[in-house]
Order: sequence, then structure tokens, then C-alpha cells
Amino acid sequence: MEERVYNFSAGPAMIAESVLKKAADELVCYPGRGMSVMEMSHRSSMYIEIFDRTKALLKELMNVPDDYEILFLQGGATLQFSAVPLNLLTTGKADYVDSGNFAHLAAEEARKYADVHIAASSREDTYTYVPDTFDWRPDADYAYITTNNTIYGTRYTAIPDTGKVPLVADMSSNILSEPFDVTKFGVIFAGAQKNIGPAGLCIVIVRRDLMGHEDPKCPKLMSWALESKNDSMLNTPNTYGIYMAGLGFEWLRDLGGVNAIYEQNKYKAGLLYDYLDQSTLFKAPARRDCRSLMNVTFVTGDADKDAAFVKYAAKNGLVNLKGHRSVGGMRASIYNAMPVEGVKKLVEVMKAFEKENA
Ligand SMILES: *Cc1c(COP(=O)(O)O)cnc(C)c1O
Repeated sequence: MEERVYNFSAGPAMIAESVLKKAADELVCYPGRGMSVMEMSHRSSMYIEIFDRTKALLKELMNVPDDYEILFLQGGATLQFSAVPLNLLTTGKADYVDSGNFAHLAAEEARKYADVHIAASSREDTYTYVPDTFDWRPDADYAYITTNNTIYGTRYTAIPDTGKVPLVADMSSNILSEPFDVTKFGVIFAGAQKNIGPAGLCIVIVRRDLMGHEDPKCPKLMSWALESKNDSMLNTPNTYGIYMAGLGFEWLRDLGGVNAIYEQNKYKAGLLYDYLDQSTLFKAPARRDCRSLMNVTFVTGDADKDAAFVKYAAKNGLVNLKGHRSVGGMRASIYNAMPVEGVKKLVEVMKAFEKENA
């Protein structure tokens, strides 16, 4: 077999090798079924078994209470930027925290439908931190946050209290990376391609009482209530993506679940931040108290040196370390599936580069 690299891409991102191998083993013939998962009817009992198991695993991993529905939808996280206002607005008011690029895009999309109020923002400070004081409106239909800011490498370390106003969270880049108390949220959604599996799947966890109030013009496929009634099969779902997510959930459960991976994630991110904090070449722009465990951003302060480092790392089997085009610098995305060895290797390579460029 060809050798795999350590892929630090922000998404689509690494998938655990054992998951890929299991999928490869079952690709042509799913055990006992004589066909690939890709060839199964989504209505068949053989597929429903896979679907139900996947849903049950996520419920177990995240401790999702019974009064929440879990949906497996398409359109990525971005479609939920529109679905959130379409499903939740009743009076028309929505509060957003502008903590990064995706948070900003979500608020902009909501402006089409809602009276949007920015409850807090770090935009003026180039999103180097997550706000910690908020101006919530008590009569808003919902309050919206992005738990991890993928491009800037920041995260909430405490979930804001919005009282009776349901809290909506885009968890695309840190779902399942640390324990979250689902009961603090009205809605959680996440695109799969960062911490769950292949792209093309979006997971929505929604408190049941928040469904069924959608705008009459809400497209059918974006209605959480209708999707819930049809168990995410209003039309053909991403059957293979859901199966792959299920393999990923099994892998995470066997590893000890979210608490176990959280410890590993803190350790992995710690290796990088500890090195960055004493480096004379690299600096971490994200404010210390809100550093992401999933996306570690760093810069040399010199665009040519940044580019040289990205090249140098790639030669050493560490790929996709270039920062997002909007911010430059470097970003190491170290989601659940990035092995500890990958991060150790990265620190070694950074040290070697620093020495050569001192
Ligand atoms: C990647 C990402 C998105 C966009 O996801 P798509 O699935 O491409 O729509 C949205 N929000 C966050 C926080 C992300 O990291």
C-alpha cells in the first residue's frame, strides 16, 4: 500500500485509518448482504439497520436526551445557515455572535429573513478571540453561536447562558471533540467533513418543541419537522455518508468516547501550543484563553517564510498546513482522527525549520 501522509486539512479532513480499512473491506459486499452499502435502497431493512445504529451511536456518544431529534441531512452546514431562521423565526428577531468567518456568513444569510442583532463581535479585532460579554435580547426567537471558529482557531470554553431563548450552535469543527451538554442548546448542527466522516452530510440535533413552527415558504427539504416525521428520508439521504459516519462513531466509542478523545485532544493541542509559546520564529495569534483544540493557527510574520515552511512540511509528509486564504499564515487542523504521532512529527518539523531559519 502507498504510504499515507499526515493531512492537516481543515476539511474534508483525516478519517481514522481503521475506519477507512473497514469501509474498504465492506465496500464491494457488505457482510451477509451481497451488495455494497451504496447499492442498498434507503428504504430497505438492511439499510435502515445501518441508519438506526448510526443514530443510536451518536445519541450515546453525545448523551442526546429523548426530547431531541437527530437528523441526517444534506447541503452541508451552510444550508443550515438558511434553515435555522426558516425553522425558528416566529416574531422575526434573531441574535448572532460574530466570532469568525462562518458566524458572519450565517448572520448575513439570516438577514434575508430576520431582524438580526449582533449580540457580540470580535470582527474588529480580526477574530483573534471569542467574545465573552453579550447583549442578548430577551425576546429574540433564538441566539446563535459558532462553538469553534475553524479559520481563526478559537473556541468557546464556556457556553453562554441565553436563558429562555433557545441557543443554536454551529459545531461543524468541534462536535465530538469535547463534552457538550446538549440540554444547553436548542439546536446543534455540524457538517460531517471535519470531525465525523466524508463531506455531503450534515447532522442536526434539534429539541422537539422547536420543530413545526417553520415559515410556510420554508423549502420542504429544509423543514426539520418534516424531515423528523420522515426520519431524515423525505428524499434519498446520503446513505453512504451516514454509513461512514457510523463507522467513525464506532471508532470513537471503542476509543472510550468523547471524554477520552477530549483528553487526547487537549494533549495534542498542548504539544503544539507549548512549542509555539516558546518559539522565537512562530507565533499563535489566537488569544490564549480561547485557543481551539481543533484548529491551531500560527504565523512567522513573514509571508515568504510562511510559504517556505508550508513547502518544507509537505516535503516531510505533513500536508495542507497553509492557513485559510483570508488570513494567511499556517493552520494545523488536528481533529479527532489526527494521530498523536502526526502532531509530534509536526512539532519536530517546526523545530527543525526554526533552527535552519534562526
Ligand atoms: C466548514 C464549516 C462550515 C461550512 O460547512 P459546509 O459543510 O461546507 O457548508 C460552516 N461552519 C463551520 C464552523 C465550519 O467549520
